Amino acid sequence: MNKIPDLHTHSTASDGTLAPAVLVRRAAAAGVGLLALTDHDTTAGLVEAAQAAAELGLGFVPGVEISVTWAGRTIHVVGLGVDHTHPGLTLGLAGLLAFRGWRAEEMGRRLAKTGIEGAYAGARALSNGLLIGRTHFARLLVQRRVAVTERDVFKHFLVTGKPGYVPGDWASLEQAVGWIRDSGGQAVIAHPARYKLTRTKLLHLIGRFRELGGVGLEVVCGSHARDEAFTYARHAREQRLLASAGSDFHGPQLTLSTQPWIDLGRLAALPDGCTPIWHDWPAAARLLPAAAGDPVRAAVA
Ligand code: AMP
Ligand code: MN
Ligand code: MN
Ligand code: MN
Repeated sequence: MNKIPDLHTHSTASDGTLAPAVLVRRAAAAGVGLLALTDHDTTAGLVEAAQAAAELGLGFVPGVEISVTWAGRTIHVVGLGVDHTHPGLTLGLAGLLAFRGWRAEEMGRRLAKTGIEGAYAGARALSNGLLIGRTHFARLLVQRRVAVTERDVFKHFLVTGKPGYVPGDWASLEQAVGWIRDSGGQAVIAHPARYKLTRTKLLHLIGRFRELGGVGLEVVCGSHARDEAFTYARHAREQRLLASAGSDFHGPQLTLSTQPWIDLGRLAALPDGCTPIWHDWPAAARLLPAAAGDPVRAAVA
């Protein structure tokens, strides 16, 4: 059984398909030794997940994946070990959720112009009602047989230049790293290979991220091929970033996301020579959440 950490997962609190407690039980059954729930722009699933993890004795790390606009692109920054009650973080995420609400309505209006009616209401009905993402639109259009896979919906409707695309207006890199750090967490650049940055741009991003206090780079993840893990392991070493590992699991479906499907508990080990982000985490976080108190905060105490 694989006992390595999985520090990047999604639940129904954002665009995953499993409820937080169900995700936690699936992770434990798959042999994950330490799990972070990192929903997009929300910490709403953390209490349920932490409670389920505590019941199973599974190490749990409260996390979040913050949407960032940097140099005209969308970048994702994962926060690990955040305090979900911290006002700066809570307020910041509330702003992103408000933008998501407006964006979803705007996506609905734009899709209507192409003849797809009622997409906003439909996507909203597939979401938890609080956070609506592009994935909910993709699921709706697959259900309506507008496309066969969610990936196709993205390709034809939901990416730059396509009719349902609304440009992101997310947090700045400074805000996202600041909210994560102020709430006691560690900031990690998620799935760096996905941004298709030139080497110069990547080094620029990493340089700025480090100046702001970011500490980690996702080296092993569901959307990285094995050779990409080696590339980003080298970047992590050279740029003195800690290496993180996460599946970016969204649910057990095959066609859910951009990356080749990867289930929980199947992540490869980090390449040799990088320092795992969990290297100095307390044993309590690594092995077992504390028994008492607020389960989310106790898990990283
Ligand atoms: P959003 O944050 O609402 O803009 O949606 C981003 C999410 O959409 C990602 O986290 C993935 O879950 C999903 N996603 C992005 N690109 C694709 C794609 N090409 N195919 C399938 N899912 C995608
Ligand atoms: Mn997602
Ligand atoms: Mn992401
Ligand atoms: Mn993710």
